Amino acid sequence: MNESPFDNALKQLNLALIVMKKGLNSDEKRILERKVGRLKFPERIIHAWFPVKMDNDSEKIFEGYRVQYNNSRGPYKGGIRFHPQVSLEEVKALAFWMTVKCAVVNIPLGGGKGGVIVNPKELSDKELERLSRGYVRAMGSNFGPYLDIPAPDVNTNPKIMAWMVDEFIKNQRSRLKAAGLKNKDGDWLAAFTGKPLDKGGSEGRVEATARGGFYILESLLHKLRKPYKTIAVQGMGNVGGIFARLASLAGFKIVAVSDSRGGVYNPEGLDIKLLSLYKEQTGGVKDFPNADNISNEKLLELPVDILVPAALESVFTASNAKQVKAKIILELANGPTTPEADKIFDHKKILVVPDFLANSGGVTVSYFEWFQNIHNQSWTESKVNRLLKNKMEEAFAKVWTTSKKYHSGLRTAAYITALSRIFKAMK
Ligand code: NAD
Repeated sequence: MNESPFDNALKQLNLALIVMKKGLNSDEKRILERKVGRLKFPERIIHAWFPVKMDNDSEKIFEGYRVQYNNSRGPYKGGIRFHPQVSLEEVKALAFWMTVKCAVVNIPLGGGKGGVIVNPKELSDKELERLSRGYVRAMGSNFGPYLDIPAPDVNTNPKIMAWMVDEFIKNQRSRLKAAGLKNKDGDWLAAFTGKPLDKGGSEGRVEATARGGFYILESLLHKLRKPYKTIAVQGMGNVGGIFARLASLAGFKIVAVSDSRGGVYNPEGLDIKLLSLYKEQTGGVKDFPNADNISNEKLLELPVDILVPAALESVFTASNAKQVKAKIILELANGPTTPEADKIFDHKKILVVPDFLANSGGVTVSYFEWFQNIHNQSWTESKVNRLLKNKMEEAFAKVWTTSKKYHSGLRTAAYITALSRIFKAMK
């Protein structure tokens, strides 16, 4: 039976707990177990079915979730995913990882996540807008700048955030009116991040996840002092596509990339600028001239220095991990490695940079966006990138020293770093 992403998340948590318990007395162990016990359950789940009017005048019911996992360190924070395979177990796992992600990068936010079961590619723009607004209405009064702050994730983007925040503000106004209260806007724009620039978004947000991951990679290579150069990227979306561009600009050789339709490989390196144009025109990377087509499965087995999963979860499993030849796996996607695959990577001495550290740049700049909205500020891109770099380097340094202290891999070290901060806040 396939384990769900949430089962995998709990397994990771248990592994970290085993390492944390070493050297503690029995009282300390009991206290620790109690705190970890609380983190095994989300605080709240909102499960909604909501109607959307289709262009042909029919009405379709969609199913959506919001998981508010933990708010010990601040308001719930996490993206909204539109995908046909969205499930409650997946959203729970993603919300849990948001909790540890915000803690590892040390921003004052908790963890949440949302999702709608839908294939957005089958909807017109108008239907997509009605779906986005319908989801916000269905979530009632559960969002807010000091309560729960959504952002984009797979198949959602700044345009969708603009619809959502607009719907949220409209609903807030009518709630006030219904309660007979004066119509005074609060910090409502800050209730959603990842918005377009002209709707309260932040410079640098779109690139932030990829850029943050790139800063983490630079910090790691600096520690390792290895001349690693070749990279394969699975998933040429917002995160993977921008990462490939940044890495190739910095002199790395991107030899393979893929998307849901398939991948391309050229051991001499791909021209990422041309490839991005090609994807824009054709809708995919497949059949890109000057490269061989390659399946997504084969891409993971290429003899590259750095492998970057940037698509969906559970990509590396017990059945394919043995074939992986990369020296470093930089997890830009959430949950790409199952615990069984992790064990194999550990055995093969493949260094895995865990998702909730490697892809924490996005939520970091989301926090910057929230902060700018609240304080009515607008930072330059260079300020955003400078602060992002500081945050990423600090987070990496802390995880690196923790891994040395506990003689653990980076994932367990990142959990220990995050959990210590969450438990302190729980007090
Ligand atoms: P996206 O929708 O922009 O891109 C996803 C890409 O993956 C697309 O190119 C798609 O074609 C490709 N893909 C889908 N299935 C695939 C498969 N089986 N094999 C290869 N490619 C496949 O999404 P995104 O925002 O780039 O997010 C990608 C990952 O990064 C997700 O796991 C997401 O949770 C994570 N993430 C995103 C952000 C963010 O700021 N967008 C932040 C943190 C983590």
